[in-house]
Amino acid sequence: MSLKFLAIGECMVEMAPTGEGTYAMGFAGDTLNTAWYARKCLPADWTVGYYTAVGRDQVSEQMLSFLKESDLETAAIQKRDDRTVGLYMIQLKDGERSFAYWRSQSAARCLAADGTHLASALSGAGLIYFSGITLAILPSEDRAKFLDALRTARKAGAKTAFDPNLRPRLWEDADTMRASVTEAAGCCDFLMPSFEDELAHFGDATPDVSADRYLAAGAGMVVVKNGPEEVICADAGSRQAFQPAPVSSIVDTTAAGDSFNAAFLAKYLSGGDVPASVDAGARLAGKVIQHRGALVACLETA
Ligand code: ADP
Repeated sequence: MSLKFLAIGECMVEMAPTGEGTYAMGFAGDTLNTAWYARKCLPADWTVGYYTAVGRDQVSEQMLSFLKESDLETAAIQKRDDRTVGLYMIQLKDGERSFAYWRSQSAARCLAADGTHLASALSGAGLIYFSGITLAILPSEDRAKFLDALRTARKAGAKTAFDPNLRPRLWEDADTMRASVTEAAGCCDFLMPSFEDELAHFGDATPDVSADRYLAAGAGMVVVKNGPEEVICADAGSRQAFQPAPVSSIVDTTAAGDSFNAAFLAKYLSGGDVPASVDAGARLAGKVIQHRGALVACLETA
């Protein structure tokens, strides 16, 4: 497999309250979080790239600089004159976080508009990573183009990994979300859902039911995360359950699943050992949730 991990989706501007009436600006987004952790977990001879669309304005340039400083390859990122990047603000009320979004016209929504550009962005990737949010933000005709591009990339030898990250508010309706995610499952070598979402939006009674449903939809391997509970790994011929080590003093569970996926895939790509891959995923996620924010710079990933 060629040594390139490519994540595709939307990176947003994050405005986080400092507690002093001002906001600190950062950048985050589910697929970006996974790319960022994959860069930390994969050997130096792997390229980790991010593919999205941004504007040509100052904040888009700041985002590109942030990605480059994070050692992510940005060469394929599309730049558009007519749009800029999306933004969210973290709001605090009585210690509880909530989010307000300005993303409905973001440049990232156009990432699959130009099929030729998309195909060239995907070419040469060994592992292509995307999420249900990547699909949700696309116009419906571009979702079909995106999945076709994935199928073409797989025929050329790429593997694909997908976290459904079910967010009904981003989709036109819940039936479309379920149908699109199920279709995408059929284009995936690794399907990495969180059971909480699958219970809420597919009504699965147990993680095994989620695994069976996605295997039936055509996924190669399904890795079902479930917070502190067992991780289920299943493919057509085998099924294993792994108990993550308990984590004390949890501060913020943002990016638990995103970081798990990065460390799991990085380990799996370098040897195909499922127990070691789950262990790597759970260990990294366990550290990430002991810190505030999605991107925790101070962690040892080995
Ligand atoms: P998501 O962020 O997508 O909701 P999960 O909550 O399912 O993801 O968590 C992903 C992984 O993070 C779990 O499989 C586990 O390894 C780790 N994790 C999350 N919450 C806990 C917890 N409370 N205790 C221990 N590990 C946890």
